[in-house]
Amino acid sequence: MSQDLLLVRQPTWAREEVLEELWTAQEAGVSLTISALAQRIHAGPSEGWGGVVQELLEEGLVRLAGETLYLTEEGLTQARTVVRNHRLAEVLFFEVLQLPLRQSESEACRLEHLLSPEAAEAVCTFLGHPPVCPHGRPIPPGRCCQALSRPQAPLLVPLAHLKPGQQGKVVLLAPRHRDRLEQLADLGLTPGAVVHLRQKNPSVVVEVDRTLLAVEDEIAAGVYVRPLTEW
Ligand SMILES: [Zn+2]
Ligand SMILES: [Zn+2]
Repeated sequence: MSQDLLLVRQPTWAREEVLEELWTAQEAGVSLTISALAQRIHAGPSEGWGGVVQELLEEGLVRLAGETLYLTEEGLTQARTVVRNHRLAEVLFFEVLQLPLRQSESEACRLEHLLSPEAAEAVCTFLGHPPVCPHGRPIPPGRCCQALSRPQAPLLVPLAHLKPGQQGKVVLLAPRHRDRLEQLADLGLTPGAVVHLRQKNPSVVVEVDRTLLAVEDEIAAGVYVRPLTEW
């Protein structure tokens, strides 16, 4: 990242952190004073957070009632986007990429500031419009979710979620253990391969490249496919 970009982005990040913190507190039914807010985001006065709050006040994104900070209507709208990005990113890192929860959280803290609205919609759709984050907190729905008149099947599902007779294209491999990757490749289960689920019980049997393979449950759980056919 160039220096210019850093300079432009950092103030935005700081603003978004404040908005996010206020949203999260409000969601938990907690009201925050400026000093309680500073404590939560581990910021001292020297770091310019007071200035950030001042700016948000001037722009009408937050308001003060006595000592307590509240998000305004416009503040809520902006905070909602940051919170949504954060929780979507958590699902991506934790559920799909299988990073530890702690790390998924800190990665999400960075990614939340970088996702464009289009990218957030793409991530949401990719994840099947998840309603909650790994902590069980609600993910504010986006336009992509609201367009759904009925629950939508996720774009990607673990191999074993296909129905017998259904075909899918392998999109990503996320085995629990990295040494399984080689095994998957040996089986022909690599991204781009088309698999045809033949049976699920007593074990998963798929056809890949005109070869029938019995796949252990643990392996099948790490192979994500895009369903190609309805059953
Ligand atoms: Zn979360
Ligand atoms: Zn969505």
